[in-house]
Amino acid sequence: LIQLGQAEHSVVTTCAYCGVGCSFRAEMKGEELVRMVPNQDGQANHGHSCVKGRFALGYATHADRITTPMIRQRISDPWQPVSWETAIAHVASEFKRLQATYGRHSVGGITSSRCTNEETYLVQKLVRAGFGTNNVDTCARVCHSPTGYGLKQTLGESAGTQDFDSVEHADVVLVIGANPTDGHPVFASRLKQRLRQGAKLIVIDPRRIDLVRTPHIQAQFHLKLKPGTNVAVLNALAHVITTENLIDEAFVAERCEGPAFAKWRAFVSLPKNSPEALEADSGVPAAEVRAAARLYASGGNGAIYYGLGVTEHSQGSTAVMAIANLAMATGNIGRVGVGVNPLRGQNNVQGSCDMGSFPHEFPGYRHVSDVAVRESFERAWGVPLHDQPGLRIPNMFEAALDGSFKGLYIEGEDIAQSDPNTQHVTAAMSAMECVVVQDLFLTESAKLAHVFLPGSSFLEKEGTFTNAERRISRVRKVMSPKAGYADWEITQLIAQAMGYPMNYTHPSQIMDEIAALTPTFTGVSFERLDELGSIQWPCNEAHPLGTPTMHIGEFVRGKGKFMLTEYVPTEEKVNARFPLLLTTGRILSQYNVGAQTRRTPNVMWHDEDVLELHPHDADVRGIQEGDWVGVESRAGDTVLRARISDRMQPGVVYTTFHFPESGANVVTTENSDWATNCPEYKVTAVQATRVSQP
Ligand code: SF4
Repeated sequence: LIQLGQAEHSVVTTCAYCGVGCSFRAEMKGEELVRMVPNQDGQANHGHSCVKGRFALGYATHADRITTPMIRQRISDPWQPVSWETAIAHVASEFKRLQATYGRHSVGGITSSRCTNEETYLVQKLVRAGFGTNNVDTCARVCHSPTGYGLKQTLGESAGTQDFDSVEHADVVLVIGANPTDGHPVFASRLKQRLRQGAKLIVIDPRRIDLVRTPHIQAQFHLKLKPGTNVAVLNALAHVITTENLIDEAFVAERCEGPAFAKWRAFVSLPKNSPEALEADSGVPAAEVRAAARLYASGGNGAIYYGLGVTEHSQGSTAVMAIANLAMATGNIGRVGVGVNPLRGQNNVQGSCDMGSFPHEFPGYRHVSDVAVRESFERAWGVPLHDQPGLRIPNMFEAALDGSFKGLYIEGEDIAQSDPNTQHVTAAMSAMECVVVQDLFLTESAKLAHVFLPGSSFLEKEGTFTNAERRISRVRKVMSPKAGYADWEITQLIAQAMGYPMNYTHPSQIMDEIAALTPTFTGVSFERLDELGSIQWPCNEAHPLGTPTMHIGEFVRGKGKFMLTEYVPTEEKVNARFPLLLTTGRILSQYNVGAQTRRTPNVMWHDEDVLELHPHDADVRGIQEGDWVGVESRAGDTVLRARISDRMQPGVVYTTFHFPESGANVVTTENSDWATNCPEYKVTAVQATRVSQP
């Protein structure tokens, strides 16, 4: 970065890291970024920011950026730099060859929550209309796909119910499976401000996260559950609410489906769902569950915030539905200060789901088998579309190993580092004949690719991101694409080379098409975003200025639907060989697989993943602070440096996955959510052993 005070102009854009979606002014001197200044008018952040959005920008101009397309026949061959024309022609000819040889459904695409809405929309359009298959998926598969499923079933819309401002009106905040201080820092600051004003806090988490005890804040309850028992604890909370007459009967009678509620009430009231019955499994004292349930149900406005600690489980979707059940039963939905609020990990998780990048849904969460919806897309896109859901990411891997899936176009996602059981992912990718990776760097996935297409950072393109509160914000280009093309243009070139016409000249035209085809987006355009600053969908005739709070007066699905949430213990069991449970998460200064933040000065705070373990577990293994520890699971093994911490409970260890050297996902398993295949990253049985060196 050049000296402060030299900026010649500034451009308002949106942070490309977490799901808070902070607005920034990028201060520029020519094509050089001078600094990022949090935008005082930013409607998600109100002038605040964190160390990632403000300082972790150096990756965009890092020497590791690849700016020339490259191809190779085999992944053991050296890369050959080629022109864009050659690279795009090669991709098209390979995908045509694969489809001619192995069938239309032998190829697919994966998009990323780091992409803009417009880019994601184009990837799924390329796959559905250009390739003629629904084999398209997104990295939301491995994070918040259970949110999409669970909230759609219960409330009718696959999205959070509130804006961030809503927390200022909460009286009781229940945070489950989320660590906002590290994962969503700007929202965490607002939450802490509300807690300092007197709102009560319930934390449900295996670790003692910062929120439990920070200056001037003391959580009323920290339900320190064992990993994998969210549903047990949520059912126990519901049991107390139903059996102690804490139901908001008027709300339920007016707003929810009666028969489903009656079944749910009878189910959670069963003795097997009592806090006492579930205490041994969950590890949470029954008295604490009872007191926490009373506080949530009768403490005023109750707001639930949750994260990947809820979704990344074999019962992720069940837990999301259990959370929605709690909110409906207590009338904590449909007004300011309450609600069910998924804290999205990446900047555009919400958007990537909204844009139809799941294999079973068109943009706007409409199933591919819906004839009227499919016909509307066929008319707009000019080709017949397949009426059956395509392959999810894990199914693509299985099909690759079976020999029926041969070609994959990946935009902005590093599946070889971020997906569970790295050995399995690597084997599947190695079995494909043409893997195309479009990214900034030679990522772990790029090492397994046959074609590398240099992508563009968020500073190099126009578009929109949608944050965790459904807020669509503009991403504005502040410098030219380093490799010559923005990502959406590369997708368009592939489509054209495949023989499918795409002729957009600006991403605003892509948004216009999205708005024309998606009822929740009909009032969205770049012009309106420029005028209003941002828009929270649904934005349409009924909600011309957008929708800060959903489900007011009526749920999107009409009546709210209680779902039965049977607790089924995970198959991932500890035993004598693997006696510890490993759970994973993030740290403040780094972001996901670290491809961006590792290439910035943020490594001064954290430059490696570590294994946190309780002093007792360290003691019995002769492990001291800073020792190297071998971590072995049923899937694989890795080595991490030990950090001994009383944040952990005995029997539970924790790490992050920001650095490829430590390969945390080498040890995670292929267990996944029953409804969506979201991996069970949060529960892996492991052994930890002191080793002399990595
Ligand atoms: Fe805001 Fe999240 Fe970016 Fe930090 S990482 S500046 S909290 S959007």
